[in-house]
Amino acid sequence: MPERRTSRTLAVVTSRFRLGEADRVLTLLSPDRGKFKAIAKGVRKPTSRLGGGVEPFAELEVALATGRTFDIVTQVQSRRVWLGLRERLKSSAVAWYAAELVERATSEEQPEPQLYELLIHAWDLLEAGASDELVARWVELGLLDAAGHGPELDQCLDCGRAPIEGEGLRWDEAAGGIRCAVHAEGLPLSSDALRLLRALRRFPPEQLTQLRLPAGPLAEADRALRGSILLLYGHEPKSRSFLDEVMA
Ligand SMILES: [Zn+2]
Repeated sequence: MPERRTSRTLAVVTSRFRLGEADRVLTLLSPDRGKFKAIAKGVRKPTSRLGGGVEPFAELEVALATGRTFDIVTQVQSRRVWLGLRERLKSSAVAWYAAELVERATSEEQPEPQLYELLIHAWDLLEAGASDELVARWVELGLLDAAGHGPELDQCLDCGRAPIEGEGLRWDEAAGGIRCAVHAEGLPLSSDALRLLRALRRFPPEQLTQLRLPAGPLAEADRALRGSILLLYGHEPKSRSFLDEVMA
C-alpha cells in the first residue's frame, strides 16, 4: 500500500457541511493553497480530538493526509481565534458574508494570499469594533478591485470629468463606475456616498474603525456595491439574505 502523503498548512474554515454520522466536510482557505476541501472524521462525536478545533472564525494550523477524494484532517491547532465574531450577531453575519465572498473569489488549489489577507483583515476590523456595515462594503469593494473590476470613482465614465462637491451623480454597475450630472445614466449616487466609497478604497483599513457615518450614504454605497457584486458573481451570495435580516 502506498504511503499516505502528509502536509501542514495555515487555514480558516469558510464553510462546512455534515457528512454521515459524525464527519464534516470543510472548505478551507489557505494562503498557500487557495481553497480546498478536507474531511474532519468523527468531528461531531463528543470524544473527538479535533472537536472544537474546527470552529469558524479561527486561524488554524491543520495537518492533513492525502485522501482519495479530499484530504483528511489529522490534527488541528488554533493559532488565532476571533471570539468577538462568535458572540455578536451582526458582526458574525458580516464575517460569514465576507468568508463566502472571499471563498467564491478564490480558486481551488491556487495560492491567492491577498484574498486570504482581505478576509483576515475584515475579521480583524470587525473584532476591533469597526462598523459592521462599513466592513461589509470594504470587503465588497476590495474584492471588486482584486478581481480587476474595481469601479471608476474619480471621473465620469463618459466625459472623464472629476465630480464636483454636491453634484448629483449616477452609478452604473455594468459599466463599472460613476457618471456626472450631465451624463446621468444609472442609479442616483450622492457626492457623500462617493466620498465614502473613495475612503473605503484609500484609507488604511485601521482608520475605518474610527469612522461613524450617517445612514444615507451607507445605504447608497450598499445599493451600489450590491449591484456590482451581483454582476461579478452572477447571483446574490447565499449569506446575503441572512445579513439583510440581521441588519434590518
Ligand atoms: Zn460626464
